[in-house]
Amino acid sequence: MSKTWRPATQLVHGGTLRSQYGETSEAIYLTQGFVYDTSEAAEARFKGETDGFIYARYGSPTNDMFEKRMCALEGAEDARATASGMAAVTAAILCQLKAGDHIVAARALFGSCRWVVETLAPKYGIECTLVDGRYLENWEKAITAKTKVFFLESPTNPTLEVVDIAGVAKLANQVGAKVVVDNVFATPLFQKPLELGAHIVVYSATKHIDGQGRCLGGVVLSDKEWIDENLHDYFRHTGPAMSPFNAWTLLKGIETLPLRVKQQTQNAAKIADFLAEQGKVAKVIYPGRKDHPQADIIAKQMTGGSTLVCFELKGGKEAAFALQNALEIVKISNNLGDSKSLITHPATTTHKNLTEEARAELGISPGTVRLSAGIEDTDDLIEDFARALSKVSG
Ligand SMILES: *Cc1c(COP(=O)(O)O)cnc(C)c1O
Repeated sequence: MSKTWRPATQLVHGGTLRSQYGETSEAIYLTQGFVYDTSEAAEARFKGETDGFIYARYGSPTNDMFEKRMCALEGAEDARATASGMAAVTAAILCQLKAGDHIVAARALFGSCRWVVETLAPKYGIECTLVDGRYLENWEKAITAKTKVFFLESPTNPTLEVVDIAGVAKLANQVGAKVVVDNVFATPLFQKPLELGAHIVVYSATKHIDGQGRCLGGVVLSDKEWIDENLHDYFRHTGPAMSPFNAWTLLKGIETLPLRVKQQTQNAAKIADFLAEQGKVAKVIYPGRKDHPQADIIAKQMTGGSTLVCFELKGGKEAAFALQNALEIVKISNNLGDSKSLITHPATTTHKNLTEEARAELGISPGTVRLSAGIEDTDDLIEDFARALSKVSG
């Protein structure tokens, strides 16, 4: 593996461990344990004097390949692969906190992430303040003497708001807190939180990294020191490890990540421009468009638009449902990052557990719809939207 390889090369070759058989495709090591030639060898392995695997909950060869490939892509020193994105988020946050500590988090978070900081953490004496993360002064005002972690997602789900990651990192460094960024929506290709000053990056690999709707997965990435001191023991003893089979599936998925994300982003951008011209559409929010309310921050921290488009129909819920039901190629699903185009109505699905006011705060109205663009032919998708919109009354 070479550190100078560009992402597309790293994603095909990075981290490969080839067995004595010289297989082209990475092997799946479905094993729980490992055997040692001698008692002395086992002793040395347990003492950490020799490299090697001990037990699949701690680490295993296929997972190691996935972790190393993700490190190469992210520019991180170390990583741990987890069974799901939520296992990654929960581990990244809880492993470094204790009762009495304080989290500042952006209120616009993936639903389960918000539950972890707003509902779970306080049960263990870890308080959390949720802020409108778009404005740096809100982060600053929420800091207390006990603040240890800042947590954010950017762009956010579903309204594609962005947070100034470098600005938040600067505030965190002033008080010795760590910044955890959930980078799912940006993808590792379009945003590098570690380069912007964040300390820990988490992914749901379920999304673009698999990208083909097959398995769940997650990953936590950071510097070696943070992982050794915080995540290492937590990960070994609480057991959120990824299945080696899923690590293999994700290794295959990640090979084509740049190709898929490129086509998905191109489709999303064209659909966003098309929708912005339609009379039945009240507004379109797309990070690649100049009319995005935070276009200046996007230009500073992202190198690409997004595979997601958020838009609002003038006819509210009725129009949103009619549009979704009339689409033929685009499927109704709350998932995202898939090679199939997927559409969802956040108010009745992903964000149904929030109150009407909390939804309004996040910019989610009854007419809000979120599209995750797939890799289909652009013109077919636009024709699908044109035809479906013609069936929406108003
Ligand atoms: C999907 C998602 C998660 C959770 O990941 P799972 O793999 O479903 O557990 C966390 N954050 C964001 C932004 C997501 O989109």
